[in-house]
Amino acid sequence: MSLKGMLGHLKTVNAHRREVRKGCFRVGLYFQGLTHDLSKYSPTEFLVGARYFQGDRSPNNAEREEIGYSTAWLHHKGRNRHHYEYWFDYLKGEHDAVIGPVPMPKKYVVEMFMDRVAACKVYQKEKYTQASPLIYYQSGNTRRLLHPETAALLETLLKMLAEKGEEATDRYIRWEVLGNDKRLFKLAVLFLAVFAAVGAIRIRQQKHM
Ligand SMILES: [Zn+2]
Repeated sequence: MSLKGMLGHLKTVNAHRREVRKGCFRVGLYFQGLTHDLSKYSPTEFLVGARYFQGDRSPNNAEREEIGYSTAWLHHKGRNRHHYEYWFDYLKGEHDAVIGPVPMPKKYVVEMFMDRVAACKVYQKEKYTQASPLIYYQSGNTRRLLHPETAALLETLLKMLAEKGEEATDRYIRWEVLGNDKRLFKLAVLFLAVFAAVGAIRIRQQKHM
């Protein structure tokens, strides 16, 4: 393992995490933004990344070619909930043991979306356009591994990004998918309504005095 490999890999991980963090912060997923891919700094993942560092492709593929599987990836996908591979389980109601995808919680689908966008930006640099993540998804066959609900949400987000851009997609995520802003807005309206009602009652009471 070389120092060049270690530094190169560290730089790649940091750049990727920075990009995902920006995306997650824009939609209010602060904790996920800060902790995204932290296990990449663990020895099991980091040393493999540094050893097989090539700069233009995933070191996990290089490890796979050499020993038939990637220890770094198996470690990674077992700990990081933004990977759909994490969400494979024995399916309910199946007589025999059948392993398949279960629906991913929305906040992890959003993190997976941000992860894909960030990876496209880092890999494609100036060639990146807002349609890149959708094109990449359509060129692969990830879909057959996703639960239908997960696929539907991910595809909605990728299509929206391609057609309407980042700002509109972020807004949709905040309001419709995660709903945090919407809840806050409803709470503010409720608070104002109560405040106004109490005020009106007081004015009435004063008039009658
Ligand atoms: Zn990850």
